[in-house]
Amino acid sequence: MLRESMSIPCSHAILFMHGGGTGQFSAIPLNFMETKGRTTAEHGVETRTADYVVTGLWSSKAAQEAKKFGHINMVCPVPEKFTYVPEPATWAPSIDASYLYYCANETIHGVEFPEVPTPPTPHAPLVADISSNFLSRPMDVSKLGLAFAGAQKNAGCAGLTIVIVQRELLGRCDPRCPVVLDYGIVEKHSSVYNTPPVWSLFVFNQVLKWIQETGGLPAMEAMNKAKSKRIFDAIDQSGGFYSSAVEDKWRSRMNIPFRVGGPNGSQELETAFLTGAEARGMVGLKGHRSMGGIRASLYNAVTEDEVFLLSSYMEEFMSANR
Ligand code: PMP
Repeated sequence: MLRESMSIPCSHAILFMHGGGTGQFSAIPLNFMETKGRTTAEHGVETRTADYVVTGLWSSKAAQEAKKFGHINMVCPVPEKFTYVPEPATWAPSIDASYLYYCANETIHGVEFPEVPTPPTPHAPLVADISSNFLSRPMDVSKLGLAFAGAQKNAGCAGLTIVIVQRELLGRCDPRCPVVLDYGIVEKHSSVYNTPPVWSLFVFNQVLKWIQETGGLPAMEAMNKAKSKRIFDAIDQSGGFYSSAVEDKWRSRMNIPFRVGGPNGSQELETAFLTGAEARGMVGLKGHRSMGGIRASLYNAVTEDEVFLLSSYMEEFMSANR
């Protein structure tokens, strides 16, 4: 059902794994980084290289983990504040990279790639963390060497990690890689080399049925466009009472961090905003602890009516507090 919903070509295998997105931060370098003989001070003569694009906390964590296994080349400067993506046409991929990694949606900073990027040549396979925009819109996975997502955002509950991987990239795994993270072994055993997270798989199957019955990914996309537009309109039409730091082009449809009472936020107003939201049954709106402020996460399970409640509350709160 997933293959059909996402139009995943036969060239790509679908794996069901454990370990969440964080497990993939290690699995990717362990499976893909090949020795290509670059000399670096850190890793000596024989080293492995991978390209990373860091656009927020999650890609930063992925790059940090990959550093344990080889040399990491940043293909573009890391933005000081994670409010945009440096244009893919300006990236500088390295010649000896085994893959180029990016995070399709930065859950904490609300920065999303509207499509699979096209970096300048030479092309190493693209690897995408799609944990927080998986199944929220159509995505051309045929352009990706690998995509992974934890199930807990748009695909059910935690415990299951979905990996979509180009078959021709299998079989180059570091022999020291733990067996549960070895894509080749998981693929060869149809994702049952060890006991899979069966409950999370059951829930995932139910979610896929619901997506198909609702009109598939084009319907999810239409819904998510409308939902995010409603919140961004409330922000943009507030005359600065609410503010979002993310550049328009890179605004996420899934996670919208914003401040109340000016670009740096007013603690008093933000606390009052959250208290009022909770009184109206809206929970989980507090921004990530590293960011502060407010964050509206509009995953597939959040309905248009619920988003309408939030945008109406935003208007009401602004009228009472501006
Ligand atoms: N990548 C992204 C984009 C995420 O949002 C998260 C978790 N919120 C992770 C990776 C890490 O996933 P996990 O908690 O499943 O290890």
